[in-house]
Amino acid sequence: MADSPQPRPGVLDIAAYVGGEAKAAGVDRIIKLSSNESALGPSPKAIEAYKAAAADIHRYPEGGSTDLREAIAHQFGLDASRIVCTAGSDELIALLTRAYAGPGDEVLYSQHGFLMYPIAAMSAGATPVTAPEKNLTTDVDALLKAVTPRTKIVFLANPNNPTGTYIPASEVERLHAALPASTLLVIDAAYAEFVNRNDYDAGASLVDRSPNVVMARTFSKMYALGGMRLGWGYCSATVADVLNRVRGPFNVNAAAQAAGIAALRDLPSVRRAREHNDVWLPWFTAELQKLGLTVNPSVANFVLVKFPKAPKDADAANAFLQSRGILVRKMGGYGLPEWLRMSIGTEEEMRLVVAAVAEFLKPS
Ligand SMILES: *Cc1c(COP(=O)(O)O)cnc(C)c1O
Repeated sequence: MADSPQPRPGVLDIAAYVGGEAKAAGVDRIIKLSSNESALGPSPKAIEAYKAAAADIHRYPEGGSTDLREAIAHQFGLDASRIVCTAGSDELIALLTRAYAGPGDEVLYSQHGFLMYPIAAMSAGATPVTAPEKNLTTDVDALLKAVTPRTKIVFLANPNNPTGTYIPASEVERLHAALPASTLLVIDAAYAEFVNRNDYDAGASLVDRSPNVVMARTFSKMYALGGMRLGWGYCSATVADVLNRVRGPFNVNAAAQAAGIAALRDLPSVRRAREHNDVWLPWFTAELQKLGLTVNPSVANFVLVKFPKAPKDADAANAFLQSRGILVRKMGGYGLPEWLRMSIGTEEEMRLVVAAVAEFLKPS
């Protein structure tokens, strides 16, 4: 017998999630481009709502997030009874995994998929399985080839983090059509608000037609409310019922609910954030390409940038940028050690980053 409490098998195999860096020693100004938080920050109305909620923090929140679900339903044209709000979409990912997968089951996602999927799978005792990508893009055929009778969940980040690529609605439909009815397809559309492509769909219409599809959304990216921990899922009545059984009774705090409602209603703020990305994503991509770097084509609010071999490699670039207070994301954990992921920031931040990268690449 062990002489101390032991977690369930698999738990100690989890590589704990490492968030984007937020601090750099010896610099006064930090330019944080490591977590894909919207460049323009949250809606001032969301901040006001958050502050106003302070007067009532002795009260439990409304446990069903009812007003927030109705605001989401109104905004996106959905059925409020099939929306479940969570403490970030991370919680939704964890709850779905815990409810639908366990020891002996497989949780499938693509090669460079979001790292919360294997963490959630292993926490539930299930086995994470990856399918190879083509050109750093989800390959539906490879995913389908990896499906077995034990595949309980397929996670599809669309667009994907950290690659920034997406697959069109027709490909998502093809994936869904070929999955067994007993497999849950979770479309993680954390960056849906940024996508500007006619052939893209975040997944709501597929949810409306299918009992085994969930669309996961978040307030952390376009709405810039990452500190509030607020996400939501849209699913069939059956899946919603399951989620409402396994979630904590007060899983979304009152301030987050209030801030989320205000952020949703502030349409001009959302439009500004989208327009900002429409300008600075292509600008930043083009400027880095002019410097001779490979930039993976992105439809989200970040880019994946490939650096040359040492001494001008990704690690050296990361260290150089960090010494200037510019924080980006290293990609070793995603199996992409030659790359760095950089979020789209303000105009000033983007210009400073391009200048710093140019200086780094200059032959010394
Ligand atoms: C950021 C992100 C999320 C999680 O966001 P929350 O802050 O937990 O809502 C989910 N999926 C992907 C792909 C992300 O990049």
